[in-house]
Amino acid sequence: MDCIFCKIISGELPSEKFYEDEKILAFYDLNPIAPVHLLVVPKLHLDSLNEVDCGNIEYITHILSKIPQLAKECENGYRVVVNTGEDGGQTVNHLHFHIIGGRKLAYMG
Ligand code: 5GP
Ligand code: ZN
Repeated sequence: MDCIFCKIISGELPSEKFYEDEKILAFYDLNPIAPVHLLVVPKLHLDSLNEVDCGNIEYITHILSKIPQLAKECENGYRVVVNTGEDGGQTVNHLHFHIIGGRKLAYMG
């Protein structure tokens, strides 16, 4: 499969890793929009949030359970973003959670 995040997970493509376990990988976004900008991906390829169901929800609950730890340095808060589909601005078709923080973020309308 020609998926850049699958290639990052397998090590075929490089990334600056922040955290890894058996289910997920967190790495620094290549083009950060804030002082903290991490991407968290399930090691299972899912195109987007639209593919989440009872059969794979454990990956998502695992990501959510780790977010407080991954975002620890964002003491004043942070934003979790899951762009989904074309209108949602998704550019990489492997489900990913952005963790963005380290500065006051403007409202995203
Ligand atoms: P999306 O727009 O799909 O929500 O987010 C994709 C994100 O992936 C973007 O913020 C982009 O900067 C990041 N990105 C795209 N390609 C790479 C890459 O090869 N390595 C890393 N670390 N981030 C990437
Ligand atoms: Zn993938």
